[in-house]
Amino acid sequence: LPVVAVVGAPNVGKSSLVNRILGRRRAVVAEEPGTTRDRGYARAEWAGREFLLVDTGGMEPAARMGLEALVTLQARVAVEEADVIVHLTDARTGPTEADAAIARELLRSGAEVVLAVNKLDDPSDDTERYRFYALGEGEPHPVSALHGIGVGDLLDEVVSRLPETTPPVEEDLLPGIAIIGRPNVGKSTLLNRLLGQERAVVSEAAGTTTDVVESEVEVELDGGLRERFALLDTAGVGRRAHRARGVPYYSALRTGGAIRRAAVSLLVVDAVEGLVAGDLQLARQVEEAGRSLGVLLNKRDLVPASRLRELEEQAAVRLPDLKPPVLAISALTGSGVEKVLPFAAGLHRAFTAKIPTHELAEYVNRLTADNTPPRGVKIRYATQTGTAPPRFTLFATRPGDLPENYLRYLENALRERYELYGVTLKLKLKSSR
Ligand code: GDP
Repeated sequence: LPVVAVVGAPNVGKSSLVNRILGRRRAVVAEEPGTTRDRGYARAEWAGREFLLVDTGGMEPAARMGLEALVTLQARVAVEEADVIVHLTDARTGPTEADAAIARELLRSGAEVVLAVNKLDDPSDDTERYRFYALGEGEPHPVSALHGIGVGDLLDEVVSRLPETTPPVEEDLLPGIAIIGRPNVGKSTLLNRLLGQERAVVSEAAGTTTDVVESEVEVELDGGLRERFALLDTAGVGRRAHRARGVPYYSALRTGGAIRRAAVSLLVVDAVEGLVAGDLQLARQVEEAGRSLGVLLNKRDLVPASRLRELEEQAAVRLPDLKPPVLAISALTGSGVEKVLPFAAGLHRAFTAKIPTHELAEYVNRLTADNTPPRGVKIRYATQTGTAPPRFTLFATRPGDLPENYLRYLENALRERYELYGVTLKLKLKSSR
């Protein structure tokens, strides 16, 4: 389950908020293994999403602890475990130095933070809440934990920031790399080479979630680091899938399953034939599944370099929402094949990247300063709301007035800056008053 933590300076009302959220459901208090005993974990649900709610209020009695230590500890614990953090502050006293210290710590960590201002019994009183923009954590959400006001809106926001779960890349499995492509583009030749590479294959097992054989491979990255992946064979090279090799129905089924299972799909394209409709259809399947795509231009031994450049441009134009990176190889001669797995590992890194919140905010600030949004729209804040695939939310005044091409400008800039190639970058717009 995703974890939501409530953090904040002493006496801002953390436990009241937690109790208000849990209501009478407090009954289910689970102690999860590996967690510190003095924190309460409880299962909560809002808008059909279940999560574990963590009350860090239990840390407060450590009165001898200096403020700084307390803040760091709380924030660190929360950041380590939580998918979303509610930073609770007090409208009557804040923003205080303690609030600011917590905000700094959370921002530095790149955590997903929702700022809440408690003890605002009249949530329409915007002037109070506005002061909390100074914390740099985006829009302050007014609540009254005591009277239950604003808690629903706060939870809407929290739930919208939970990691996307439909359909999830299975986290307990090794990250998957699927080799996909039309018949005869060279998938089997490539797989045999990849699996034939010395020390490449660690083990081979029937796929857990698909009818595709998975081979565990180890990739050596720059700097000698090693990463393990499951290589998914949609060509049916492996024994189990072999039976169905060549039967189009099974091969399509295998490919669909493999695409969903894999974080990264490598689309093998025949450089002689170019990007044909069947290739684009497979690419679209990857896009719809919310996964990452790389293109392997195979049979480079049969075409001139100019053809490869032409196909590379075509890939960018034909797949504008993915902008997949392209690698030219020859599965037959082996040229470029040693780059295939590092290429996939790079895609996986971008797919799972988490950009620190403060860094993202700074970058978007610069972009909006360089190129002011039209029609008087103000972009107040940007935050990453998900990884695998990466998702971002922009908070803007009158977001409905922001033209599509301005969004594209931001998307392209983010893609370039953080090398987010091969995935769709969905920028969500939200209104901040
Ligand atoms: P699959 O159906 O996608 O698995 O394709 P195969 O791996 O069976 O390859 C189809 C044909 O293309 C075979 O005759 C391969 O020898 C040939 N082939 C594969 N890769 C290359 C390559 O890089 N260059 C050339 N010239 N031929 C290739």
